[in-house]
Amino acid sequence: MYLGIDIGGTNCKFGIRKDNQLIIESSCPTPETLEEVIVFIEEWKKNLTDKNIKGIGISMPGNFDYKTGALVESKRFGVKNFPIAEKVEKVFPRIPISVLNDGQSAGLGELFFGGGKEIANFVFLSLGTSIGGCFIIDRHILISRSGKAIGRVAHMIIDPNGPKCRCGNKGCWETFVSAARISQLAKTMFGKYLTPLETYQKAKAGDKKAKEIFREIAYYLACGIANLVNILSLEAVILGGGSLNAREIVIQHLKKELKGKTRENISVICSQIGDKASLWGATMLAEYQKNIYSNEY
Ligand SMILES: [Zn+2]
Repeated sequence: MYLGIDIGGTNCKFGIRKDNQLIIESSCPTPETLEEVIVFIEEWKKNLTDKNIKGIGISMPGNFDYKTGALVESKRFGVKNFPIAEKVEKVFPRIPISVLNDGQSAGLGELFFGGGKEIANFVFLSLGTSIGGCFIIDRHILISRSGKAIGRVAHMIIDPNGPKCRCGNKGCWETFVSAARISQLAKTMFGKYLTPLETYQKAKAGDKKAKEIFREIAYYLACGIANLVNILSLEAVILGGGSLNAREIVIQHLKKELKGKTRENISVICSQIGDKASLWGATMLAEYQKNIYSNEY
């Protein structure tokens, strides 16, 4: 069996994959420090009855030195060069351990167990506070051998005169399609702060202004997706992430917008494995380990 550990910004999930079934063993709110995460992993190990572990995959935000399994930097946890794989190895001695960026891991999860099972070339996009991406080309994850994540699509410039982005540039894709943008548009339209979920509920109830907000989000989503699809001749886009409450509204407009922006006949797919995609991906990483980096799986 293979173990997956998904260290998210809000929750940590621990799962086991056995005979291609994912058993989620436990989850907990993500603590402040990675040392505390290690303590949770120690606790989890105590409850594992089956000890036949062939590998462990860890998914979390950030870049990694894949040779050492160290997390290069994490603002969320306030660490630099944190030896995450080494720490987990102390808990599970002699078990091979690998680490991967969470967006990439979710892309792997989609490739093997989600909407990408039968698609050779696609981009997985994770929509939330930002927008994460992972490219699958010829059924292989596009990854740098240096360990750097490829797919940082959030800061692709969609409009050089657009809103200021947290990265310092103007008009990045993220500024047009993030969860914050939905709330920002709602404030302009309704004069008060609304969460993306509240905005969606209004749209679902038939509110024209709220519907307009999601139409605009879909328009800018289409602009970015068309760029990616046209460059890489992709067949599909798989959408995941936390701010997809309004998926049926957004997707309807997105499909229309994409028709005018790309010649490729692109499928728009909603993730079926949702917030478990990166945990599934981590268990695949556990199986293929460093082959993921050399594209030999
Ligand atoms: Zn930016």
